[in-house]
Amino acid sequence: MRISHRLGDRPASNQPEFLGVNQAFAMTESKTHYFDSNATTSVAPEVLQAMLPYFAEKWGNPSSPYRLGKRLVEPIEAARGSVASLIGADSTEIIFTSCGTESINTAITSCLYSQQNKRHIVTTAVEHSATKNCCAALEERGYEVTYLPVNRDGSLNLKLFENSLRPDTAVVSIMWANNETGVLFPIPEIAALCRQRGILLHTDAVQVPGKLKIDVNDLGVDLLSLSAHKLHGPKGVGLLYVRNGTPFQGLIIGGHQEEGNRGGTENVPYMVAFGRAAELARAVSGESRQKLAVLRDTLESEIFSRVPHTARNGAKEPRLPNTTSIAFAGVEAEALLMMLDQLNICASSGSACTTGSVAPSHVLTAMGLSPAEARSTIRFSLDYETTEADVAYLMNHLPRIVAELRAAASPRVAARSGDPRSRRPSGVIQTKELP
Ligand code: PLP
Repeated sequence: MRISHRLGDRPASNQPEFLGVNQAFAMTESKTHYFDSNATTSVAPEVLQAMLPYFAEKWGNPSSPYRLGKRLVEPIEAARGSVASLIGADSTEIIFTSCGTESINTAITSCLYSQQNKRHIVTTAVEHSATKNCCAALEERGYEVTYLPVNRDGSLNLKLFENSLRPDTAVVSIMWANNETGVLFPIPEIAALCRQRGILLHTDAVQVPGKLKIDVNDLGVDLLSLSAHKLHGPKGVGLLYVRNGTPFQGLIIGGHQEEGNRGGTENVPYMVAFGRAAELARAVSGESRQKLAVLRDTLESEIFSRVPHTARNGAKEPRLPNTTSIAFAGVEAEALLMMLDQLNICASSGSACTTGSVAPSHVLTAMGLSPAEARSTIRFSLDYETTEADVAYLMNHLPRIVAELRAAASPRVAARSGDPRSRRPSGVIQTKELP
């Protein structure tokens, strides 16, 4: 049984057929069991349909003085209106960018460059690399950064946060939903503390659309970043919300596009696609979100009851309804992922952007997991397209694969990975570098 139709609430028969894309999607879906929606999502057929004409007959440059180009201004502004509606903003507060990473870099640097007398940034130790590495680069340029620690369940100590704020704090950049654990930070409370002190607040909300309702006024943020490919849009287009009245200095300096806030000829097809994806995400009902959480919880409890020595990383609530991060003691996550891949099951070991890197997840180690425990962790992130049959298929194989990997692991590997059979405490064991 499907928990709902794609992005919630449309009967399958209403889905448009365009260049056979539905059939193509159906074919891939029947073979692939996708549990990695936090990494990316498929482009919805409606989104593809909306964007394709802008590669062909509706080409041109929106800045041109003639109709061939000028006619593109209207669809761009319609898309701007759609993404603004998704987050409860005014369309004048939206800047289109090339991705979530660009939005985040722009937000942080804008707050610094527009308040030259302030050189301090507050963020957390569990941000996506877009924020983490941007802050690290700024540190090298002489800015000061406070990386707030998190509790074992991934939550933030608000008192610690409050104490980190200083008269020279230019910006607080704290994610709303963690991409690895799904744990939510209390953005409205953080916003209230920032506002009392006149400090600008940016939130990375890239993982949120379609999974929670977004209202920038309820949140109280000054800036917010999103990326289309997490909500069934294409990769390579993002947005930055900048509250009216917030001082702003763009990062991409060039022409007058985006009201002079972001130079570069507009990527019209991708902007239009983002607008359509935003409409679909906005249409996701509370009931669909609830069903998604139920399916995620089913997967979680199935794993806990059928695979021994497993534990969830991060608080049960408040959390995104689609994400679970599970440590499989004594198992190298990379090996488990390879075996799942053989069965056409896609999941990930931490953030997709760091897959292949040798370091254990900085998010999990910041939460106090040992490197070995972090390396035994798999993130399953579901979507409205995930079915009970997908979960059943996964659970048909997972207990056996984990048992096989544990049996095959040498005592040394078992020890490194925090296997419960090992007599050595996992926290003090040296980990190997992944190849
Ligand atoms: N922030 C979070 C929480 C993410 O999960 C991602 C992507 O994985 C990004 C930022 C970066 O977005 P993009 O891939 O569009 O640059």
